[in-house]
Amino acid sequence: MRKLVADYHNHPQAHRTDLPYSKKVLEPWAIKAKELGLKDLAFTDHDRYKAGFDFHEVWDLQERHPGIKFRAGIELDNDPETSEDGHIWVRANYSDLDFVLGSVHFVKGFAFDHPHYIKEYEKYNINDLYRDYYKNIRKMASSGLVDSLAHLDLIKIFNFFPTEDMTDVYDETLSLIKEKDLSIEISTAGIRKPVGEIYPSKEIVQMAKTKGISFTIAGDAHAAQDLSHNYDKLAEFLVEMDINDVAVYEKHEKKIIPAFL
Ligand SMILES: [Zn+2]
Ligand SMILES: [Zn+2]
Repeated sequence: MRKLVADYHNHPQAHRTDLPYSKKVLEPWAIKAKELGLKDLAFTDHDRYKAGFDFHEVWDLQERHPGIKFRAGIELDNDPETSEDGHIWVRANYSDLDFVLGSVHFVKGFAFDHPHYIKEYEKYNINDLYRDYYKNIRKMASSGLVDSLAHLDLIKIFNFFPTEDMTDVYDETLSLIKEKDLSIEISTAGIRKPVGEIYPSKEIVQMAKTKGISFTIAGDAHAAQDLSHNYDKLAEFLVEMDINDVAVYEKHEKKIIPAFL
């Protein structure tokens, strides 16, 4: 299978507070990226771990490995406890950041993608949850702070699917994303979750394509050895969907490049 050029969703801090950016933490990502042949890689730890983020460590890594583009990025979400601070931080550091990934991990105040809260689903009508989820996505897309929307149908993670047609919801959401000239992410993360498939669905990707929306691609790794996990499946997916180009970002400026090396 042909190799892909970029990976725009990575968590070097692995949701930990004892792995602040350093040469020791970032270097393995460069070594692995080189091994895979990646040309463009964005670090996007969650905004709640911003204390461990360090621009200088990313820039130093870039100097040590000029053959790969390393992007200073962050995954900004809608955590009811931490995201207000996250938004403030992104605004304050916007000009140094290359890339901001916008995510929705909370609906009705609960972390719907965490197995610990799976019981919460029983309290709600699944169609309402889907509508609410996409309302939050539109809010994120309208924030003026994000470049691409991550895992756009994450709400399917535990195989709860809407019983009503959501085409109008997807259409409204994608139209807004197009209007704001944002990208959406195609991610292999869903393959290793209960749903067992790429985010987002072919239906959503096809709709986005028809609207002329650009795509970032990602593996959502939480360890260097997992970088671009299942990229063979992502390559197949892109071929099947006839997607040949991807978006990369430098200081929020989008560039469309060939997806395959
Ligand atoms: Zn996420
Ligand atoms: Zn993530």
